[in-house]
Amino acid sequence: MGGLSAPGGLPLAVFLLLAGPAVGSFLALVAERLPRGEDVLAAPSRCRACGVRLGWRDLVPLVSWLALSGRCRHCGAGLPRSLVEAELAGLAAAALAVVFAPTPAATVLGALYLWCLLGLALCDLAAFRLPDALTGTLALAGLALAAADPARGVLAGLAAGAVGVAAFAALRQGYRALRGHEGLGMGDVKLMAGIGAGLGLAALPMVTLIAALAALALAGLARLRGDGSAAGPLAPVPFGAYLACAAAALWVLTA
Ligand SMILES: [Zn+2]
Repeated sequence: MGGLSAPGGLPLAVFLLLAGPAVGSFLALVAERLPRGEDVLAAPSRCRACGVRLGWRDLVPLVSWLALSGRCRHCGAGLPRSLVEAELAGLAAAALAVVFAPTPAATVLGALYLWCLLGLALCDLAAFRLPDALTGTLALAGLALAAADPARGVLAGLAAGAVGVAAFAALRQGYRALRGHEGLGMGDVKLMAGIGAGLGLAALPMVTLIAALAALALAGLARLRGDGSAAGPLAPVPFGAYLACAAAALWVLTA
């Protein structure tokens, strides 16, 4: 809570909490449009059911959802739940940064870092993609977090990011040599730059272990419930989403 009690901490917290749902909404848009090759910024938002162009009253994060009970104003069709979930996740990321970051600078950087992780998880879940724009921004936010931390500094952040990339590049090569097909994407390798830079060297094995265990546990659960049998053991896993969630959890635990 150190960030909140510092001078300017309260207005900063209010700003980040108001921005959170809007950032979540934007990240959901990125995750939805990216795999279809659509322009993220320029194309207007339309109802997926009736195609009517949505106005600002339909697009206020969380508020529009509540006011319209999650339905299109024009045709009454249900709006995708994933949108309001992303808006809530954006708000949660801001709240975690406000509550756990030690200084105002770390609060802003922490929110940016968690938002990047959220966007990466959404993109990986939607389309098995980790866009360079998001892994790059995550790496920069991670370096800035390292620089703002007196115990680490920017050089330690750079070194940890490089180790993360090297370890995952080696893992990727090894998997391909052993199994004869891709197991890890290049996006996962680039993601490790930001995870190493933001969380430090000691966090790299922890994040990887938590992500791997969570992926295995969920795959096991899906198999028990009979969902996984049709997909088979070689079904792709959005491992980047697991890495991003594990990194966010570790940021909260170590902030
Ligand atoms: Zn509609």
